[in-house]
Amino acid sequence: MSLQLPLSLREGWGEVASNFHYFYNSFLILLVMKSFLTWTPFVLLTLYTLFIIIAPPIVEKQKNLVSSPPPYSVSAEAQALYDQLDFVGDLHCDALLWDRQLHKKYDYGHVDFPRMQESNVAFQAFTIVTKSPQGQNFNQNSGESMDMITPLVIGQGQRPSTWFSLVNRATYQCMKLKKYAKKSGNECIVITSKADFQTLLEKRKVDRNIIGGMLGVEGAHCLEGDIENVEEIYTAGVRMMGPAHFFDNEVGGSAHGIEKGGLSPFGFEVLKKMQENNMIMDIAHSSEAVIQDIFANYTGPILTSHTGVDATYPSLRNLSDKELRQLADRDGLVGIAFFPGAVGDGGVPAIIRAMKHVKDLIGVDYVALGSDFDGSVQTPFDVTGLPLLVEEMLKQGFTHAEIEAVMGGNLKRFLLKYLP
Ligand SMILES: [Zn+2]
Repeated sequence: MSLQLPLSLREGWGEVASNFHYFYNSFLILLVMKSFLTWTPFVLLTLYTLFIIIAPPIVEKQKNLVSSPPPYSVSAEAQALYDQLDFVGDLHCDALLWDRQLHKKYDYGHVDFPRMQESNVAFQAFTIVTKSPQGQNFNQNSGESMDMITPLVIGQGQRPSTWFSLVNRATYQCMKLKKYAKKSGNECIVITSKADFQTLLEKRKVDRNIIGGMLGVEGAHCLEGDIENVEEIYTAGVRMMGPAHFFDNEVGGSAHGIEKGGLSPFGFEVLKKMQENNMIMDIAHSSEAVIQDIFANYTGPILTSHTGVDATYPSLRNLSDKELRQLADRDGLVGIAFFPGAVGDGGVPAIIRAMKHVKDLIGVDYVALGSDFDGSVQTPFDVTGLPLLVEEMLKQGFTHAEIEAVMGGNLKRFLLKYLP
């Protein structure tokens, strides 16, 4: 015998049971969602933290390459000559773009303070990159292309204020150099004036571990079209600026832009502001039209921080003989870069061939080093390999005095004369 509940009661019980099921399921879902909502931020934060620790070195190791790793060896004559140089200096490196603490020594990248100290380097210009178009090339780039520095700064875990502001990216890199200088026990002096530079020279007379770093900007798009930002970056320590990098910007045309035009009205305003502050004008990467506008209108100091020359390697990024003569007329400097895109594939001999051309055309007084270390390029050596240049200069007939001038003598003269 079985107990038969009335049909209505059986159905009612079934409804209660299914409702219970419904509530039970909803409760479980809510519980899962709650723990998901509670834990997700922590999980994401942990993943992001791991990413910013693991990814940056992997990325940089693919970008800043050397043809052969250190140590480097040269002839006894070249090494002796190099060791007795009292001032070795370089006009261009992008080391601040990466995630290395420059007061520490690394086995990747091209330059840091300990490697400079190891190799008798007195001075390095640290130039600031704030925006690079996807698919960057020497012929034609649009400023509208996706910016590759954005994922880089987010991936490095930089402060969010730098994620979407170019001027904040620039001042952040300025802050980084000052921080590393302090952490080096002030062995690195951030050079913002002639007085700072003289201090560097004085201190080096008794301690060759004292080095100098000067801030520059690669591309005035970091001003974001706001003239007030010239003051902002000057206050942050920047003493050198190039109007354009790889794309035309609010200031003027790039050698690798679409229009490749001259200075805009805003560009002329920037010129005036730079002049008021006696900032060093860097014509590297500028369009031919911008370069001519600068020669015609800028009365402050002018140089090119990293270039090749058309005579040994024709390229949109390189200087013609006419432009080299104009630079000499303006008492400028020609920083010769160390990578194939500037001097061709010939390694160290190609670098020295470009230098020799400048020497033969306008005189050795205008030749300087403009490595482009850490500029997403492959160089024959890192900063500890600079004696290789001395060895090759000897082979290509440079005298000791000429080598001294190229390795830093000219740069020293220029900075003593033109720093504010
Ligand atoms: Zn560059």
